[in-house]
Amino acid sequence: MPPKRFLFGPGPTQVEPSVYQAMTQPLVGYLDPYFFEVAADVRRLLQSAFGTKNDLTLAISGTGSSGMETAVTNFVEPGEKLLVFSAGFFADRIAEMGRRHRADVIKIDKPWGETFSGAEARAAIEREKPAVVAFVHAETSTGALQDPKEIAAAAHSSGALVIADCVTSLGGAPIDVDENDIDIAYSCTQKGLSCPPGLSPFTVSPRAVEQLNARATPNEVWYFDLKLLRDYYDGRKYHHTAPISTFYALQEGLRSIEREGFHQRWKRHAEAHAQFVGGVERLGLSMHVAAGQRIPTLNTVRVPENVDDVKVRTRLLDDEGIEIAGGFGPLAGKIFRIGVMGPLATPDNVNFFIGALSGALS
Ligand code: PLP
Repeated sequence: MPPKRFLFGPGPTQVEPSVYQAMTQPLVGYLDPYFFEVAADVRRLLQSAFGTKNDLTLAISGTGSSGMETAVTNFVEPGEKLLVFSAGFFADRIAEMGRRHRADVIKIDKPWGETFSGAEARAAIEREKPAVVAFVHAETSTGALQDPKEIAAAAHSSGALVIADCVTSLGGAPIDVDENDIDIAYSCTQKGLSCPPGLSPFTVSPRAVEQLNARATPNEVWYFDLKLLRDYYDGRKYHHTAPISTFYALQEGLRSIEREGFHQRWKRHAEAHAQFVGGVERLGLSMHVAAGQRIPTLNTVRVPENVDDVKVRTRLLDDEGIEIAGGFGPLAGKIFRIGVMGPLATPDNVNFFIGALSGALS
């Protein structure tokens, strides 16, 4: 038996019991009409979670990185300029994928934990004139939440498409894909949606669909070719064996959010975040990211001077069964990364966590 854990890390996070239950339901085939009903329901629910009416909304088979790869391989053609706003590990990963797809990658860097202002975004886009702009909405390596609106506006006035990594925001915070005018957004199932890892929610604006249809070069990657995936989910033409049980899980995870209400869920997470910040500040700790720029579901707390972060994390795991994560890259040893999401985002669970952290630090 796996040990019982409280998953207060950045992901995977605590799974809803009804989601585990859904995964035990009998398999059907990947071309069964029932499977396509499930996939259609997942599309409808993902549209609500993303805040979009985009027809091309689906779940890619694979973890969050598969959504990233799908975005890059379908929308950045070899030789095209990809501008990445980077203030963390996952934005760097987008740039690396761009390089591997032979894009001309321009990376604009800021210190880990900061975000880009509208003026900074506009200046870089006007100077570089990229074909595609990418950024991370919720940078899990730092805890910072990037405002998408001005990046998207600047990109569109320069004729560029906009890719947003929403791996850590979907389900726990509004993304408002349509209102923010994001062209391509992708996420994962194992964070704000409280499901196991295995699918990458993905959505594409009509503007980006037009560009996809008009692509000058064929996609060199077969598995993540959105035209083939569209033929599968809309045309019911075999592409790959979809992970059926993982679709059941995602459908139930999204339905449980729908039962709660999407806006109510975001409010619950915002309240749990405020309670968490108050709690850690009362312990004398400080947050790494400036107020107003923090991800509501993933908190980054500075490790106090003379405290060994590995020892604290080990005590939490050994004594309480609580998993949290440390920092990496320039933030290694300097921050704790603490997720408060899904079933754990309640007043009682936040109190339980703050008490346990206090004990582990003493
Ligand atoms: N992007 C962000 C912001 C992430 O936090 C992660 C994973 O934590 C990824 C991409 C990659 O997702 P996965 O590990 O599910 O492949």
